[in-house]
Amino acid sequence: MLTIIINKGYGEGMTLHRAALALLSSSLLVVAGCSATEQGDGSEAPTSDQAAVPAVVEGPSVVVTTTILGSVVGDILTCAVGSAASMTVVMPIGADPHDFQPSSEQVAAMSTAELVVANGLFLEEGLVSVLESLETDGVNVLHVAELVDPLPFAEDHGDDHVDEHAHDHGDDHADEAADEHAHGDFDPHFWFDMERMALVAELVGSELAVATGVSDYEDCGVSVATEIRSAEADVIAALQVVPEESRILVTDHDAFGYFADRYDFHVAGVVIPGGSTLSDPSSRELAELVEVIERENVPAIFGNTATSSDVVTSLAAEIGRDIKVVPLFVGSLGGPGSGAEDYASMMVLNASLIADALTD
Ligand SMILES: [Zn+2]
Repeated sequence: MLTIIINKGYGEGMTLHRAALALLSSSLLVVAGCSATEQGDGSEAPTSDQAAVPAVVEGPSVVVTTTILGSVVGDILTCAVGSAASMTVVMPIGADPHDFQPSSEQVAAMSTAELVVANGLFLEEGLVSVLESLETDGVNVLHVAELVDPLPFAEDHGDDHVDEHAHDHGDDHADEAADEHAHGDFDPHFWFDMERMALVAELVGSELAVATGVSDYEDCGVSVATEIRSAEADVIAALQVVPEESRILVTDHDAFGYFADRYDFHVAGVVIPGGSTLSDPSSRELAELVEVIERENVPAIFGNTATSSDVVTSLAAEIGRDIKVVPLFVGSLGGPGSGAEDYASMMVLNASLIADALTD
């Protein structure tokens, strides 16, 4: 019989992590040893020391806002301490990060966390004031999107100069963009550029190393970043079949600027204006988008698994020909069986959905 002793008495520090590794191997020994004992063969029975070591190790308490960041931060914790059990992800699978509202229990969990990892740049609109007051109270909040050279929103999709704007990192257009993007000039959807997400993995690893004094986190940030870069090669390979003239995106909201910038696509238009999912397009905006879709002979509109597809579907109905509506995983991972259960698979699945829709 296997006895697992949960020891909550370990403090932070390298000792903890060395102990974690020792633990994982010794708990395997315990399993092997116990069955040997049950067979009546005393020679392989565990020593009392092996049986008494704890089998669950606590990492630092980390609260992460989105499921996408939860996937990456969870991988870093699992690499460093063998488990992501000390991490809480605020948003459930399938939540739209733009309109999620936290419960008071979740706010309480954030207030005692050693590190809060947030996307930032107003992605989590319902958390902005909560995060501000936590920071005022001295909670360590890492707003990751701000740390990876964020791109400004393109000002006017459908405009011929959209590519120039998408590459413009200067401040010249900030005032104009502010009119369209009530919450901020910079696009928070950085995770659609996997190199930026790899940098975030390294930054979170470093921050955890500083917060805990344990360098393993930094090493694990680097190794998770390497995995992300290798998954990005799969994304690029999946997209390779799309010819240059077909690399046109029309999406439910303005979430694909980083994707377009990194993987060489052109965002021809978005259904919901303003950089979030929370506003409604005017009839003039919809009419302009229909015109762009007709002019560029767009074969597909990309929807969003986390939001209602009503406006996208009715737009598709406006188009006087068959046009595909293809939902993508935009602001949240998918549930079990979706194929988008973690960040890397979500990105690879999105890439293959986009490639299929634009090449059929
Ligand atoms: Zn979004």
